Amino acid sequence: MSCASWPVPAQQPEAEVPELIDVGANLTHESFRDDLPDVLERAARCGVRRLIVTGTSLAASRAALELATTRPGSLWATAGVHPHAADTYDDATEVELRELLRNPLVVAAGECGLDYNRDYSPRNAQRTAFARQVELAAASGRALFLHQREAHQDFLAILREQGSRLPAGVAHCFTNGPTEMADYLDLGLHIGITGWICDERRSSELRRAVASLPLDRVLVETDCPYLLPRSIRPQPRSRRNEPETLPEVVRVLASSMNVSPDVVAEATTRNAQALFGLSAGPC
Ligand SMILES: [Zn+2]
Repeated sequence: MSCASWPVPAQQPEAEVPELIDVGANLTHESFRDDLPDVLERAARCGVRRLIVTGTSLAASRAALELATTRPGSLWATAGVHPHAADTYDDATEVELRELLRNPLVVAAGECGLDYNRDYSPRNAQRTAFARQVELAAASGRALFLHQREAHQDFLAILREQGSRLPAGVAHCFTNGPTEMADYLDLGLHIGITGWICDERRSSELRRAVASLPLDRVLVETDCPYLLPRSIRPQPRSRRNEPETLPEVVRVLASSMNVSPDVVAEATTRNAQALFGLSAGPC
């Protein structure tokens, strides 16, 4: 794939491709084990030079931080336990997460939340692990990186329990409609948009929602290697998604928001910098 999504001529100098920040990239996934430097090089050519590596378990969060340490100014990490792994969350986990969250390269607590779609962990364990990580984020002064599937009401209830102590955060990979979006905006959250929006078969509610999403609350992410945008041409044979597809998410999102891709690029980069406190990009 090349940066075909971006509406600039292919020969345009790299410097003129708008800068984007991928706030959710699962770069420690085994599918990137053999060629991560190439993946990051391709991403950089498409304007994606700053990325936040998602931590989904204690081990994955440690690995995310380790990776971020190798590329300061370009990679950051989150630290948390995904609802799928909620039954692994105990006091020892929390002690280690608290320690990880002290590191300046760890810019958010999560990914944490509720997933009643897969139910890989019992729902009561999910609720407990989630509530404890929300507390931890508040105590650590970190933003939240949030995951929710088919659990909107319970998810909302746990966030609302925090009242004014609720930290800033992002509803990552938001896939719902206008009602859920309004609930998250009311809580002060940002909305993370992935390649889900590029799938016309299942994104009609999402597209309706983002039509009224304020520009100061929008973020973009690939959630790679998952969620390869369905509108990418040609589709890679491996089906692996990479950060270089982020301009395609921006392109489709911009058309749903009724603004230009440049406006979305500028807004999402500014929002990601401010929300996660990211320093200026690498040169
Ligand atoms: Zn997720």
